[in-house]
Amino acid sequence: MSVVTRFAPSPTGYLHVGNLRTALFNFLIARKAGGTFILRFDDTDPERSRPEYVEAIREDLEWLGLHWDREEHQSARLERYADAADRLRAMGRLYECFETPTELDLKRKKQLNMGKPPVYDRAALRLDEAERERLRAERKGYWRFLLEHKRIEWEDGILGPVSIDAASVSDPVLIRADGQVLYTLASVVDDIEMGITHVVRGADHVTNTATQIQIIEALGARPPAFAHHSLLTGPKGEALSKRLGTLSIRDLRAQGIEPMAILSLLARLGSSQPVELCHSIDEIAQGFDLSSFGAAPTKFDPADLRPLTARYLQSLPYEAVAGDLRAAGVPDDLAPAFWQVIRENVETRADIARWWSIAAEGATPAVDDEDREFVAEALKMLPPPPFDETTWKTWTEAVKERTGRKGKALFMPLRKALTGQSRGPDMAALMPFLRKVPTRV
Ligand code: GLU
Repeated sequence: MSVVTRFAPSPTGYLHVGNLRTALFNFLIARKAGGTFILRFDDTDPERSRPEYVEAIREDLEWLGLHWDREEHQSARLERYADAADRLRAMGRLYECFETPTELDLKRKKQLNMGKPPVYDRAALRLDEAERERLRAERKGYWRFLLEHKRIEWEDGILGPVSIDAASVSDPVLIRADGQVLYTLASVVDDIEMGITHVVRGADHVTNTATQIQIIEALGARPPAFAHHSLLTGPKGEALSKRLGTLSIRDLRAQGIEPMAILSLLARLGSSQPVELCHSIDEIAQGFDLSSFGAAPTKFDPADLRPLTARYLQSLPYEAVAGDLRAAGVPDDLAPAFWQVIRENVETRADIARWWSIAAEGATPAVDDEDREFVAEALKMLPPPPFDETTWKTWTEAVKERTGRKGKALFMPLRKALTGQSRGPDMAALMPFLRKVPTRV
């Protein structure tokens, strides 16, 4: 049986590290097995779904390199859901209810006060036809799936054996009073009809899974393999949900974080395997092992993405950054050598343009007061550009001779005067690229 997975975002916001984890796991399972990965937009809620988020999610997945084989939109499949609802109705598994949200709320409060779990009491099932007619004339009904009261069990790819007593769960609402088909049904119909074999999603869906297994079986299909990954928390274990807005993939991209850094981290975080920087999606897929993930909440620290990004960029051969060097204005004949000189000082791609600007346009010299005289003296001894590989050594030796300074006291003020930075590439190697240097300070 060939593996088919799906990522099913609701287009109500941007892709963030939390839902990207779901996307990535499903993508990797399909990729590793040579199967199919479907991008499915759960867009049955017309009030909350937005076309601009559909576009943004697509764009972010493309940027990350998580390409999908097929795209589906639930909004285009409404008649399939209506059809499934009819079948469930015909077998007596979908029943009409009339309680208002306020009435339901009241019921829940009463149950809780009596120390009972707030499970829907199925009062609607006890209505006779006349009462139903009377209520229908008053308000529109909504529809619940009738759970079979027995234990629902499955072998979870991450949680291990799960067993949930169906009687402890409310019969799920599948169709709202306004006729809108809800996620629980739409998702099941799609998973069946699209031949989904594996579903990985967040642990917040465990109860949904239990009810969905019964709906799948009622519709005459076999449930896919389910796995529920733990939810991400901040570095101190705090809930991440409120911060997810600032952890959107587009924010990370704007900060210069590289796709490979994000994917390498998320493919391992929360598993028993160490985080390893990978250089391709296939490398990540090869090492991916769902069974190595644990059920405990997973700590995520966005700060970890910076060193991974730097290490990734520093490992790149010239060909992989040629476009960035060109965009920064580095002439093609100088670019390979310039990359060798700056690469260890590149932490994000923006640093390429920053170092080229320092070289080509000159930097604002950084000179400490106590070094002012020394730097002024030294600059008088520096010949005008162009420089070559010997310039730095010849110059600093002459300056040392004249001023008596040596070591850091000699080199650091000169580096800061020429580049405006206290850290940077080897100065002897950088000198041939410096076109503008200060003549006085
Ligand atoms: N649209 C649902 C969500 O974003 C999909 C859950 C699922 O994978 O079934 O939570």
